Amino acid sequence: MRTSIGSEYDRQGADLAFTDSLTGLGNERRFFGKIERLIEDRADDPAPFAIGIIDLDGFKPINDLFGRGAGDQILLQVAMRLRAAMDGQSTVARVGPDEFAFLFPMVFSEDAAEEKARMLIEVLSAPYDLGERTARLSASVGCSLFYSGDETTELLVDKAETALYHAKQSGRGRVVVYSHEMEEAAKRVTQIEQALRRAVSHGEVEPYFQPIVDIRTRKTIGFEALARWTDRDLGFVPPGVFIPIAEERGIIGPLSQLVLRKATEAARSWPKGLFLSFNLSPSQLVDQNTGLHILAILDRMGFDPRRLEIEITETGLMTDPASAEKIVKDLRSVGIRVSLDDFGTGQSSLGRLREFNFDKLKIDRTFVSSILDDKPSEHIIRAILAMCEGLGMEVVAEGIEEERQAERLMQFGCGGGQGYLFGRPADASSTLDYLRAAGDLPLVPA
Ligand code: C2E
Ligand code: MG
Ligand code: MG
Repeated sequence: MRTSIGSEYDRQGADLAFTDSLTGLGNERRFFGKIERLIEDRADDPAPFAIGIIDLDGFKPINDLFGRGAGDQILLQVAMRLRAAMDGQSTVARVGPDEFAFLFPMVFSEDAAEEKARMLIEVLSAPYDLGERTARLSASVGCSLFYSGDETTELLVDKAETALYHAKQSGRGRVVVYSHEMEEAAKRVTQIEQALRRAVSHGEVEPYFQPIVDIRTRKTIGFEALARWTDRDLGFVPPGVFIPIAEERGIIGPLSQLVLRKATEAARSWPKGLFLSFNLSPSQLVDQNTGLHILAILDRMGFDPRRLEIEITETGLMTDPASAEKIVKDLRSVGIRVSLDDFGTGQSSLGRLREFNFDKLKIDRTFVSSILDDKPSEHIIRAILAMCEGLGMEVVAEGIEEERQAERLMQFGCGGGQGYLFGRPADASSTLDYLRAAGDLPLVPA
């Protein structure tokens, strides 16, 4: 008897080990097991099948806002809807706090998988009943297809996760089916990440400096530091490629500190009246240590904070405005100036200009490059200039390549300019040559 009771318990225990206690759906273990079995079944059968991972967009804020009870209610309704949407052969499971997964044994093509996933997103987008109120959610789905060969369960799930990542990156409520190009892109990113980690720890990322001039007198008033990296294996990697990877993979802090340290070191040899402008990434404005790191470097390098400008973009202000505001306030309190970079490309919210005190605004290159042949660009630039004058902000127009663009900007009353017309980014020693040639530094170093 004892043994039979024991085995009954064992069976229940085993069931529980494969079941999600809240929704009653299978859990991750059961899901993996089902895929494994299907792969075995398909050993002699070339028919593909599809799996997908569903991630509820914005579940966490709802959970925080309405409380856990409401969160559980929603998860139960999600589970019910998904179960109802499955046919006899398909499986749905809960594989994470706000992640579900499905297995479609009879879906043979990427198009069919995409269509099925779209249908599930549709089903999940209807309002959720929370008693007194309702809530809405959207969902992102990443799918992958099994093709007979040496695919394993882990690989198949990894691919669906990669596809899900791409889906979430491209916005809410999207379906992405895994493709080979995605794998290649992911490998390339990992390769760059590893090389970059090594380069940062060996101090191999360098600041280049691009002059910023007074458009009227053409005198240099400062330089923007721009990170440059040439890897021994990968060759030159543009900042437009490695900066986003550094942000995403958590290397931006150390990278930024390295570049700032080298940049302030170089800028100490410049005439005292010239400022150094330095870019901060959006993720750095979420991290309260950023300000401390900057101040520590200035202190160590003996660089006057009043000669430093920090460039931030609107994207950087949007992720966590309160955190960004605190960092900006701390930096400004020691005399560091703050400019709004790439103005005109993001949200360009005027409210933001009121909430934050910027010292300077940089008009994005896209407007400058079309100023000569595009009336709307001209009007926009003039409006920005008028606004900056009213708000007491300085202005720099970025990406000036032609004399005629500089002249037009000067006519409109733009004070500062930056672009290939005045100088391309150059390393520290060429920058000193540039300053000497302009008569801003003695010919022989002191
Ligand atoms: P940004 O801050 O808007 O920098 C201006 C970009 O425009 C630079 O590209 C510069 O080389 C380019 N540029 C300047 N004048 C001209 C011109 O006349 N014509 C054209 N076509 N381009 C011009 P770069 O150096 O490739 O940097 C791209 C972006 O990478 C920067 O945009 C900045 O957002 C980011 N970045 C660069 N260095 C750093 C860094 O140290 N930290 C962070 N967080 N971001 C950086
Ligand atoms: Mg910039
Ligand atoms: Mg810019």
